[in-house]
Amino acid sequence: MKHDILTSDFSNAAKQKVNHPLLSLHADIRLNLSVSTLVEEALKNGEGTLTDTGAFMCDTGKFTGRSPKDKFTVYDDKTADTVAWGEINQAFDADKFEALYQKMLTFIANKKLYARYACACAAPEHKINILVVNTLAWHNLFCHHLFIRPTENELVNFEPEWTILDIPEFEANPEIDGTRQSNFTIIDFTKKIIFIGGTAYAGEMKKGIFTVLNYILPEEKKVLSMHCSANIGKDGDTALFFGLSGTGKTTLSADPYRNLIGDDEHGWDDKQVFNFEGGCYAKVINLSEEQEPEIFGAIRYGSILENTRFKENTKSVDYSNQSVTENTRTAYPIHYIPNVAIPSVGNAPKNIFFLTADAFGVLPPISKLSIEQAMYYFVAGYTSKLAGTEMGIKEPQATFSACFGAAFLPLHPLKYANLLGEKLEAGNVKVWLINTGWSGGGYGVGSRIKLPYTRAMIHAALKGEFDNVNFIKHDIFGLEMPTMCTDVPKDLLNPKNTWLDKEAYDQKARSLAISFEENYRRISGK
Ligand code: ATP
Ligand code: MN
Repeated sequence: MKHDILTSDFSNAAKQKVNHPLLSLHADIRLNLSVSTLVEEALKNGEGTLTDTGAFMCDTGKFTGRSPKDKFTVYDDKTADTVAWGEINQAFDADKFEALYQKMLTFIANKKLYARYACACAAPEHKINILVVNTLAWHNLFCHHLFIRPTENELVNFEPEWTILDIPEFEANPEIDGTRQSNFTIIDFTKKIIFIGGTAYAGEMKKGIFTVLNYILPEEKKVLSMHCSANIGKDGDTALFFGLSGTGKTTLSADPYRNLIGDDEHGWDDKQVFNFEGGCYAKVINLSEEQEPEIFGAIRYGSILENTRFKENTKSVDYSNQSVTENTRTAYPIHYIPNVAIPSVGNAPKNIFFLTADAFGVLPPISKLSIEQAMYYFVAGYTSKLAGTEMGIKEPQATFSACFGAAFLPLHPLKYANLLGEKLEAGNVKVWLINTGWSGGGYGVGSRIKLPYTRAMIHAALKGEFDNVNFIKHDIFGLEMPTMCTDVPKDLLNPKNTWLDKEAYDQKARSLAISFEENYRRISGK
């Protein structure tokens, strides 16, 4: 494990320079434990179990996903006029924050704590240092995987700038503490602290830091922060994959022909694309070795599996089991994937893919976007939600999340869109819209576009194959659809051809186009 830098154990914080008052308050803090020690601790604490491939498997409890309605930002001089306040960025009183801080410190005073020094941003000029404090050993292991691991040298005089205090057992009292319910994620941009309580969903920590970077980078450094995955070809051509949850960022960026830069969060400055993270957090529902060999192979000793179940009487994971949640996940350090870019940086992108899982089955599986269209689809951030999939056929719902990540954006979406616009205007980037959702009819009638077809279309775009292919314009969306693609049936390329009832197709397409228009007016205020 040559990239696994943190192999030494510090059983007591005193053995290493302690740079935070939080750490000096406690007797029982284990700082920067290695992967194996954390796995041992987690097993000893009864936090989970091992699978037959050696992965650590556990449940996240009541919350099997993030809780966006319980996310708050402290309202103060710094944030008052910069944060786009509203449903996504809910204001939290600074005094209440201070009171909650004291309450949490008291709560953890006699608890065993796992702390870790971590970083975000693979580009040295943008790197931030983080101190993570957890009560759960596996949460600390999650942070080892998902954040960037500091080198031994960086650890010598490590000065944490941001702190994450993550105490799942701590439940807030909404009436006194000012939260909505017992669980919360609160970000204080002035004190540089993220508080998490009442939930053991580990994704809150990674998306907390993502939110922080979505403020710092565009606001303070004019660097575009993005909810996208990224990989790079042998010729140094970078590709970005934007998309909302479940649309394929992680799945499609793991590619045997290309090196992975990162699977979820990146920055794009004047010269490069860089990962914010040090690992991946992949969905594993219905995972198969055949379809997703890189991710399947990454689930081994050290990796974490959340909310999965075993096949009966075995320690072998049944990836089809969704009895706990459909959002089953694995977390692993990025180098558990065979081909990765080291460090996690790449050139400015040549191709950008907007991934959408259109459950209406009306958007083409691949189309080429003009700069104007690219801006329009970026601001829209469309995908669809399937309400109660297990209950049989239900009408899907169009969901729009600006910049493919509105839930993580402290600033107004148009700030990010304008930064992207400037980069696209500078030229040399092709932008594609990819529907990884339905074809041949909507959810319940048609079927999800097969992963090998989506991969074939992406490879064709990356190779420049479409430069020599005719395109036709979609008559409702105006999207340019290629008429040929290697290894993809011709009829699949024009969605209307896959529907039996052409009139029904036009109707659905028109109604989706109207939803797009309504949403655009709402965001742009026009
Ligand atoms: P998140 O932001 O929550 O991490 P994500 O965009 O990374 O979400 P993935 O983890 O890549 O989403 O999930 C895509 C899921 O859809 C996977 O389970 C994958 O197997 C499945 N899938 C099925 N068909 C396709 C397809 N044609 N293209 C991409 N993914 C597909
Ligand atoms: Mn992902």
